Amino acid sequence: MPPFFSASNSTSSSVSLYLAPWVVPVSSPVIRDGAVAVSNGRILAVGSSSSLRAQFKDARIHCSQGVLLPGLVNAHIHLELSAYPHIPCPAPEETFCDWIRSLLQVRQEGQIEPGESDDGMSRQMLQQQHDAGVLLLLDIGNVQPSPPSVNPHPAHVTFLLELLGPTAKAEEQVLARISSLPDSVMATAHALYSTTPVIITALKQRADRLHHIFSIHLAESTDEIELLRSGKGCFRSFLEERGAWENSFPCPGIDSHGAVEYLERLGLLDAGLLCVHCVHVSEKEVQMLAVRGCKVCLCPGSNRFLGVGVAPLEQMLRHNLLPALGTDSIASNEELDLWREMQILREDHPEVPPAMVMAMATLGGAAALGREQDFGTLAPGRKAIFLNVDSQLLQDVQNEKQLLDALTGGGSPSTIRWIVEG
Ligand SMILES: [Zn+2]
Repeated sequence: MPPFFSASNSTSSSVSLYLAPWVVPVSSPVIRDGAVAVSNGRILAVGSSSSLRAQFKDARIHCSQGVLLPGLVNAHIHLELSAYPHIPCPAPEETFCDWIRSLLQVRQEGQIEPGESDDGMSRQMLQQQHDAGVLLLLDIGNVQPSPPSVNPHPAHVTFLLELLGPTAKAEEQVLARISSLPDSVMATAHALYSTTPVIITALKQRADRLHHIFSIHLAESTDEIELLRSGKGCFRSFLEERGAWENSFPCPGIDSHGAVEYLERLGLLDAGLLCVHCVHVSEKEVQMLAVRGCKVCLCPGSNRFLGVGVAPLEQMLRHNLLPALGTDSIASNEELDLWREMQILREDHPEVPPAMVMAMATLGGAAALGREQDFGTLAPGRKAIFLNVDSQLLQDVQNEKQLLDALTGGGSPSTIRWIVEG
C-alpha cells in the first residue's frame, strides 16, 4: 500500500499547504511551483506556491516532489471477474461472440485460480486500483458483493447489480426480481443484445427513481449493430444455440440504425445514462448523446484486446462530450491500469491533447458518477484527497506540454501516494 501523506494537528493553524514543482488542477491550467491549500477536509485554494504562502502565512507546509493531481476514476470495471483465469484475446478469425462463449464457459465451470476466492481476488484488485491512484470506481457485477469487512476500503466503490434476460420467460423472471430488490441495491442492465427492451426500461426507470446512474454496455462491436439492424450475424447464432432466439431483432417497433438510436426510441437518453464503450456510433448518435447530456465511458484497452475497433473520440470531443475511462475486467484486458488506458488512448488518438486525456481519467469519470462536486479536479470546495506522483520521466520535464505528455503517455509513475486530509 502506498504511504499516505496526512497532516497532523500539531500547529495552531487549520490550513495545510501542499507544495510541489507541478500542480495539475485539471479544471484550470497547470501550475509550475504550485500549491494546494486545504482545511477541514476540503480544498481552500489552488495557485502558485508564492501566492498561497503569502495568503496563508501560518499554514503548515508540506513539500513534495513531482506532481499534485486529482485521484483517477475507473468508471467501468467488473471486480467479480478478477478471480477467473485469463482469457486469451480472440484470434483474428474469431468473433466477439466467441469471446463471450469463452467467458461464459469459464464462469460456468467456476474456474477460479487455486487458493483464491471471488471476494478475496476482488478485494486484492480493489487494493491494486487504489495503490495505482484510483479513487472512484464503478463496479458492475452479477452478484452483490459482501459488505466491506473490518474497515471500509479507501477507494470509493459504487456497485451496480447487472441484470439481463433475452427472452419472454427470462423477462418475467427478471421483472419479478427487480420488483423484489430492496432500494439499497442499485441495479442496471447488461447490453441491448442480452436484455429485452422491457427489462432495460424497467431498470432505467428504477435507477431514475432511486437517483443513481444507469450503466449499459453499448455499441461495443459491429456484431451488436448487425443484430440490431438486421437480426443476423454471430449474435443471432449465439442466441439460437442458447435457446434464446425469439425473433426479437430487429426489435418490433424500434426502427433503429444503431445502438444509441435504439435507446433513443425507448426514450432512455438522458443525464442518468452511462453508455460504456460506444465504439460503433454514428456522428448523429454522438450528437444525440451530447444533446441529451448522456455520459460516455471509453475502454480503449479492452477494445484493443478484443479487436472491436476504436471509439470516435474526436467526434465526441467536438460535440463537447468529455468521456470517462474504464478498464473493463481482466477477462477483456491485459491489465487493469488507468495509466495504461491513458497511454492506449494517446496511441489511438494522437491528435487529442494530453490535457484532454488527463481530464477524461479524472473529471470525466467523476462527472459520469455524479461526484464532480467532490472529486475529479483540484479546485476550491473539492475534498482534500488527491495524488502526489513522481518518476524520473516527470523530473525531467521542462514545461506544461512535456508534463502532460509524460503523465498521460508514460504509463504508471514509479511513486504514487495519496494526500488525505480530514
Ligand atoms: Zn464491461
